[in-house]
Amino acid sequence: MQNLTEQVKNLALEKGAHLVGIASVDRFEGAPRGHHPEDLLPGAKSVIVIAKRFFQTILDSDKFCTDSEVIPPDEVWDVQQTMFMFMYNTLNMHMQLIGVEMSHFLSEQDYPSLPFPAGGYTVGGKSANFPGGRYAFFSHRHAAVAAGLGEMGLNNLLLTPQYGPRIRLHSTITTAELMPDPVIEEQICLGEEECGLCLKAETCYGEIYAFEMCGKKMQLAEFQGCQKDLCKRSNPEAPLPYIRYCIGVCPVGKNSG
Ligand code: SF4
Ligand code: SF4
Repeated sequence: MQNLTEQVKNLALEKGAHLVGIASVDRFEGAPRGHHPEDLLPGAKSVIVIAKRFFQTILDSDKFCTDSEVIPPDEVWDVQQTMFMFMYNTLNMHMQLIGVEMSHFLSEQDYPSLPFPAGGYTVGGKSANFPGGRYAFFSHRHAAVAAGLGEMGLNNLLLTPQYGPRIRLHSTITTAELMPDPVIEEQICLGEEECGLCLKAETCYGEIYAFEMCGKKMQLAEFQGCQKDLCKRSNPEAPLPYIRYCIGVCPVGKNSG
């Protein structure tokens, strides 16, 4: 088991993952019906979660070209947005390729494996309760907590000790029994009193509530949805800095570049 675990982790890191962690499927007890690893892959034993870092320099791109001689002021946001999406899509695609490579490697050793999309696909959206249509078969954030990569912060994002919320995530379920990593016990989010910066996006967040999984206690602020005018600059009066304020403002891992 140890040898195979090392091989899988080395493969992920050699192919460009910045972080890799493993969760055993028993850590997903209480997952919603239809979304437990064993619901998605019969015989599942482990979940491999990888992360790639997202540069703060890209999050700072809302300062680009605000006095451009070329781009009309009401179109600068659209151009800035391409910086964010380029990074978002590149990281997602890179991790999806790593997930497919790991799945090939494991499947060739008779361990059927299931890689997922890294996220970012807007699908569905017909439900009155969830008009945004961002369903997914599997939650990378929850899997990342179970795999010891980090915790969910008040901003509802996965915070890693190394890069804070400046990461993208990807998960692969496998029938291979791998060595699970320990869940991170230390608190990573600085909390409302010591920090609370993300909560200044006040229409995005509601009441703070306690959340626990894998024996780890976390505090999250109820997510009210991504308010387009708030930090996305479709409104030139948008009050918050950063094109994705809740990622860009978080001090955890901010100095990682
Ligand atoms: S990206 Fe901006 S608008 Fe969306 S949740 Fe984060 S702070 Fe709110
Ligand atoms: S901005 Fe502060 S309070 Fe919000 S998630 Fe980051 S550390 Fe936690």
